[in-house]
Amino acid sequence: MSILLRCLPVGYLPTNCYVLACEGTQEAIVIDPGTKEGEENRIIGTIEQLKLNLEFIVCTHGHPDHTAGNKKLKQITGADILIHERDAPLLTNPWLGAEESPAFKVPHRCPICGKQEMVRLDIDGEKARTISGCGVVVWEAEISPPADKVLSDGDRISFGQTELKVIHTPGHTAGGISLYSADERMVFTGDTLSSGSHGRTDLARGSEEDMKLSLRKLMQLPTETVVYPGHGDSTTIGKERMDNPYVQLL
Ligand SMILES: [Zn+2]
Ligand SMILES: [Zn+2]
Repeated sequence: MSILLRCLPVGYLPTNCYVLACEGTQEAIVIDPGTKEGEENRIIGTIEQLKLNLEFIVCTHGHPDHTAGNKKLKQITGADILIHERDAPLLTNPWLGAEESPAFKVPHRCPICGKQEMVRLDIDGEKARTISGCGVVVWEAEISPPADKVLSDGDRISFGQTELKVIHTPGHTAGGISLYSADERMVFTGDTLSSGSHGRTDLARGSEEDMKLSLRKLMQLPTETVVYPGHGDSTTIGKERMDNPYVQLL
């Protein structure tokens, strides 16, 4: 059974949001809807245009640039939100542990005034924000509803006649996952593996050691497997084995 795939870059960075459907039954999932205000309509538009039934919203990890559209998408479609059990707490509290992480202990350049100052993390019932040293909101994301179901390594996510296997790939966060289909030769790697690089490990509950183990795990996949990362261009496992400097160092 063939699969239908659309990539919609959304949000500030941008983040790759993937719409994935079983062509036979039109049952679909959305991976990482990290939308800015109003961008949810692009995802909904794609779902409507292709006449899909959205079953699940799957987050490769709990960072708000991957979860900001969960709330609106769930409100409109009723789809269940799935995330690994160790990142589930981040859905409703995306700054959990962030202030203690190395990334937020150093000053950042304010895009408005240009001064190097500490970034402030702010959260209320609706939104998570980063606020620059001079008090300007530089980034904000809508808080997700809690998970409807939590995932563990080896779980399978089925929609129509299609199935993705959950591979626990921590390192960027504690509950990062990759989603793999052997039949379709594709893997969605979130912020674990990207073309020529890997996700940063200095954020809350990140780990360089775990990242190495996760990259090793992914390198076991067949050479021709296409890698769809959370940010940037797609690649293949074979290409990353050859060209990715971090993979060379494993
Ligand atoms: Zn991330
Ligand atoms: Zn990301």
